[in-house]
Amino acid sequence: MKRLSRRHVLAGGGAAAAITASEANAQAAKSSIKWDRVVDIIVVGGGATGMPAAIVAREAGSSVILVEAEKHVGGHAICSGGNVPLGGGTSFQKKWGVKDNPELVFQDITDWSVTSANGSADYRYNDREVIRAFADNSAATCEFLIAHGVVFVDKPPDTQGGNSVGSSVPREMHCAPVDWPLIQTGKPADADRRMTMSTGNGLMHPLIAAARKAGVEILLEHRMKAIHRQGPQSGPVIGLAVENNGKIINIRARKAVILGTGGSTSNVNFRRMFDPRLTEEYCGVAGTPWSYQDASGEIAGMAIGASLWGLYNNTGEFGSGITKPGTIGGQYGYVNLRFFPGSEVFDKARSTGLPVKNWQDVITVNMIGKRFYDETGTQFTSDNYGVNKDYVPNSYLNAKNIKWDPHNYLNAAMAGIGDGHNGGGPIWAIFDADAVEREKWDVKPPNTDPANGFFFTADSIPELAKKIQMKYQRVPMLAENLEATISRYNSFVDSGKDEDFGKPKPMYKIARGPFHAAWATPVLHDTRAGLRINAKCQVVDMNGEVIPGLYCGGESAGGFSLHGLARATCQGYIAGNWAIKEPNRA
Ligand SMILES: Cc1cc2nc3c(=O)[nH]c(=O)nc-3n(C[C@H](O)[C@H](O)[C@H](O)COP(=O)(O)OP(=O)(O)OC[C@H]3O[C@@H](n4cnc5c(N)ncnc54)[C@H](O)[C@@H]3O)c2cc1C
Repeated sequence: MKRLSRRHVLAGGGAAAAITASEANAQAAKSSIKWDRVVDIIVVGGGATGMPAAIVAREAGSSVILVEAEKHVGGHAICSGGNVPLGGGTSFQKKWGVKDNPELVFQDITDWSVTSANGSADYRYNDREVIRAFADNSAATCEFLIAHGVVFVDKPPDTQGGNSVGSSVPREMHCAPVDWPLIQTGKPADADRRMTMSTGNGLMHPLIAAARKAGVEILLEHRMKAIHRQGPQSGPVIGLAVENNGKIINIRARKAVILGTGGSTSNVNFRRMFDPRLTEEYCGVAGTPWSYQDASGEIAGMAIGASLWGLYNNTGEFGSGITKPGTIGGQYGYVNLRFFPGSEVFDKARSTGLPVKNWQDVITVNMIGKRFYDETGTQFTSDNYGVNKDYVPNSYLNAKNIKWDPHNYLNAAMAGIGDGHNGGGPIWAIFDADAVEREKWDVKPPNTDPANGFFFTADSIPELAKKIQMKYQRVPMLAENLEATISRYNSFVDSGKDEDFGKPKPMYKIARGPFHAAWATPVLHDTRAGLRINAKCQVVDMNGEVIPGLYCGGESAGGFSLHGLARATCQGYIAGNWAIKEPNRA
């Protein structure tokens, strides 16, 4: 074991961090590190990147410890819709007669000419080296998943549930849950849906089982706090400082550390580097409270010299980086994720939310009680097979042919109230008893969360405005504002014309009590920028040099705009395959 002259330790910005940065520093600031464990490869994070990486490395004969911050593995991947756009000529594509190859994948995901209807470019800023590696390993990753128990729904690849996945051919496959329990309910899916629905449970349960079977040692509630490198910003990575139960454990990695920490969307300060508007009130990040994207991989990597990369991809107005909520009245409103009583995280999620079928049934107001946009407005769109009519690869016509649509509901929601503060503040859906009947909502808990200030009810509008108080409501909602907003909106219903925001034919008045205010604040979802990596998923420093022994993939890695699972599983697969070739540095 090497005696080290200096170490550099920095705590990550973990949502549940019990040990502060200074405590972690103090614990590590000894003359040499006392290693509690020694292993070939440490994988950080048990999600879509970490699990394949760990399996690949273990099956190749390396000893592997996977550290996971939460009480459970799976990450956002197990919460996901299980829509996996791997292509390049997979056996699945071949089975359904879809012709694809790595060149086509590369061409699609680097096509400069593709823009969304608001002018945002899905692929223009992708790192060519990173995309080449994805294109070349995409089909192999698909075969790896199938070989490790993932069952895809038996229907042709389609376009459901993906974004920025390429225009040339359909690539989206869907993971069937089979008999695995769903983390959303604690129970398996209904018998008639087990082979037809798409869910991340169908991706991650088989991979977790395969990792355990292969002999990956999984340490739950072990949160990486820092990466040990030989010198502060020089030499190879040699291990990790991990917190378990308030104690720091140092784990030596003979060969490599692979970061699969899932991105930065839950870390307010980190995410505001990309967009200053994303202040604390965006507290319902998709995938939480199952697991958090706390930027700990990025922060620990940067502390030992790593560079960030491809930052436009995290601010470009395309895809699902920021979404309109699909359910209202609870903290966590992501459209495709609801936790029900029976889920092991229901005590944290606290409500299932009210799914909105028709945005004509509510108006949305900001924290001072004013409308800001047509409630039926949509979020940002994205490129996918079939979106571009008459698509011609790399043609100037692709951008020229798009019909302008700003998709500005989210930007209006996040514009704020003009008082100089960043962040749009809470957004409230306001509705009445008739809307409850039309939507067939039961507005009582656990469908809503009044106890924590995410849902309010009153018999009159002034009373409702007065009641809206919670930690993110930094100014009171004036009763006269809300009353004026509602009476103006009701006049638009009479006239059939929304004079303020052009909502197509406002349909229903807000008139019959009781009246309700439900949390409807935008939901953050994807991270699409992170640590700089190369084709092998090795992390690269600010001088463009590889940091020996450090790998990263998935949402904590940069240079690649493509929603989710394909990018993460493929980069985990790549990282695992290269990490095993590292020299043994014991
Ligand atoms: C509701 C929802 C639906 C989605 N649907 C789809 C879909 O249908 N198709 C698609 O392609 N993508 C989808 N996605 C996105 C996809 O799930 C993610 O992009 C993917 O899971 C990212 O993989 P990852 O390995 O980077 O992170 P994750 O899968 O989130 O895994 C990260 C893991 O690292 C752990 N971790 C973090 N920090 C530390 C630390 N310091 N120490 C130890 N462990 C740590 C976390 O707890 C977590 O378990 C969806 C996401 C959500 C939330």
